[in-house]
Amino acid sequence: MVELTVLGNYGAYAPANGACSGYLLDVNGYQIMLECGNGVLSKAFKYTDTSKLGMVIISHLHHDHYSDLHCLRQALKYQMREGLRTEPVILYLPEGPEAIVAEFKAWDDVFMVVTLDEAKTTVNDFGLFQLKFFPVQHQIPTYGVQLFVSDEKVLTYTADTGWFSELETSCCDSRYLLAEASLKEYELAERGDTHMTARQAAMLAQNSGAQNLILTHFFPEHNLHQLRREAEAHFEGNLYMSATGKKYILQS
Ligand SMILES: [Zn+2]
Ligand SMILES: [Zn+2]
Repeated sequence: MVELTVLGNYGAYAPANGACSGYLLDVNGYQIMLECGNGVLSKAFKYTDTSKLGMVIISHLHHDHYSDLHCLRQALKYQMREGLRTEPVILYLPEGPEAIVAEFKAWDDVFMVVTLDEAKTTVNDFGLFQLKFFPVQHQIPTYGVQLFVSDEKVLTYTADTGWFSELETSCCDSRYLLAEASLKEYELAERGDTHMTARQAAMLAQNSGAQNLILTHFFPEHNLHQLRREAEAHFEGNLYMSATGKKYILQS
């Protein structure tokens, strides 16, 4: 069974009781945290036993994707001290900004850092599952991720990115596509090189052959009903709007 639980789904900052980017993947019992933005750790305590966490993947080092890593470090230290955990967490990070990466590499008692510029060149095979990373288009080094289980691409995550043609190749034939929908249409001219609209995410899902599309990375002010309508007009598969606590069975 492969499950995805949304821990947080906001970009930039979160509204009351919300959290920024964070998703929990359970791959036949192995726990992966995909993104660890502000507010995510407290949500994680609600939905999982964090002492069982094996891996954290951070797509890029913007605060809304990694700031709770600092708090997670403290939680992991506590778990080790209390004998609840023996192994460090595998931590995938982009290669920069270098000063931030260096900070996490120094915490090698709790994190085993692998940088994504190295990881992207290979299939990262963990037996139960495989991960492939691909660079996307954002202000700083940023990577999307593909999750394979039993030879099926069960999930592709776009991370924060503007639309570019190679993105369709990276996302192709995914059972679930978890795609950012940060922008309103009128913002495209100014910010379209670094984020997508709901329409673009829907067209990406349609053109790449995704069966299911989960939209995420919303700004708190956005009208989600409107975003949904914009996406529905361009995607024929199953469309979902992410929300904290929502669970999706990616593979049964
Ligand atoms: Zn973001
Ligand atoms: Zn970002």
